[in-house]
Amino acid sequence: MKATTIYAAHDVRLEDQPDPTIQKPSDAIVKVVATCVCGSDLWYYRGDNPIKDPFRIGHEFVGVVEDLGSDVRSLRKGDFVIAPFMYSDNSCPHCRVGIQSACSVGGFWGGPDRDGLMADGGQGEYVRVPLADGTLVATREIPDPAMVPSLLALSDVMGTGRHAAMAAGVQEGDTVVVVGDGAVGLSGVLAASRMGAERVVAMSRHEARQQIALSFGATDVIAERGEAGEAAVLRLTDGVGADAVLECVGTGQTMTTALAAARPGATVGYVGVPHGVELPVRTMFSRNIGVAGGVAPVRQYLPALRDDVLSGAINPGLVFDLELPLDEVAEGYAAMDERRAIKTMLRP
Ligand SMILES: [Zn+2]
Repeated sequence: MKATTIYAAHDVRLEDQPDPTIQKPSDAIVKVVATCVCGSDLWYYRGDNPIKDPFRIGHEFVGVVEDLGSDVRSLRKGDFVIAPFMYSDNSCPHCRVGIQSACSVGGFWGGPDRDGLMADGGQGEYVRVPLADGTLVATREIPDPAMVPSLLALSDVMGTGRHAAMAAGVQEGDTVVVVGDGAVGLSGVLAASRMGAERVVAMSRHEARQQIALSFGATDVIAERGEAGEAAVLRLTDGVGADAVLECVGTGQTMTTALAAARPGATVGYVGVPHGVELPVRTMFSRNIGVAGGVAPVRQYLPALRDDVLSGAINPGLVFDLELPLDEVAEGYAAMDERRAIKTMLRP
């Protein structure tokens, strides 16, 4: 099969790899229907995260079950499935409280599992899925092809946006500020809106992203950044600040903005992978601002979000503004790196 390996900054290649086979009775083999490039893949692509050895990349995919191990109970060959960006057994103590991203036997795509067996990356033609019963969520039937982008968005960005909104404690009628206009921030706008926020403020200075935010339910857009953006939030909220804030980037600057946008007593839900973030505990203390979140347990939200997509209640696939064949994966990365695309979908 063909699959993607990242060798170094700005060097991703689609290459021949061994076809995966069932290694353990709890495995599934999935034929990938669609996959995509993540903002977090760009940390490696841009050289912000060092690459010691080349590795298989991609952690978002949907596909069709091609083969199953003998212990798998919840899936059948031919099922259309959504994979979360981590695999998990969905039954250990951490999974049972809904933090499948901390599963005691789970892990990430693109490397060896706990038995040293390859769990393939998502940006390829096939994936060996460990712990298939706990990991994969199937649709009842093969979905309309038009639904595929929105189902793929559940693999990471929509579930992550949803986690930011849950961690921030978004309630019906709230005013919510979303910091970050990447695919996760836009998904956060959609999640907050779906959870009943009355006012959703998207902080974005890019016209195309503002348009998606508005179609996802944003009621206001703030184009300013930094202190000017913080002042704009206060103007919009009569000097009070937001009831809930979603921090969807992960830099020191965006966390500062998120904390400044929160009214006393509010919580900042954070899902951007932190790079150089220091929390000002003294300020948080004096203003009663909470910070909650972390690696999104996408698996927890998948069944509900799947039903929302299939019923047409949400259409998170709008975050994909570039679709390429898997052969052009390198261009898919370059387009996102150069901000020519918000998010690239790839089809084998
Ligand atoms: Zn678990």
